Amino acid sequence: MAAVDSSTLALLRLKCPHCHEGDLFSTSAFNVTKFAQMPEHCPVCEQAYEPEPGFYWGAMFVSYAFTVAIFAVSGVLLYYLAGDPPLWVYVVTVGLAALVTTPLVLRYSRALMLYLFGGVHYDPQWRHGRSTARLSTQG
Ligand SMILES: [Zn+2]
Repeated sequence: MAAVDSSTLALLRLKCPHCHEGDLFSTSAFNVTKFAQMPEHCPVCEQAYEPEPGFYWGAMFVSYAFTVAIFAVSGVLLYYLAGDPPLWVYVVTVGLAALVTTPLVLRYSRALMLYLFGGVHYDPQWRHGRSTARLSTQG
């Protein structure tokens, strides 16, 4: 699939921030045991996906924000659509919503972290060896 110029679209498609072609994750989001698995480098342009050790610890804060939003939206929807059901319905429904969206929340949290704080920028010229924003952990 061809690279898109828009970093927002590349982020939504979970593509490499440098080339917008390589996948950020090795498996499908539906792979229950490996949905968080990322390759060390982009399979297309060899961009390092972990700029420094422990880089993705910061994604926990992004993940927290996503999860709070999921809690709030599902709670408000439940209140208006189900007519303020008993407490246990809130707990079960909101808990299930958070559980079901965990792979997406984790993936987009990591992707946002890499796009915003990874120091990597889209370089449409990377194939021609004129890369300017390459970040590498190889010294
Ligand atoms: Zn790449």
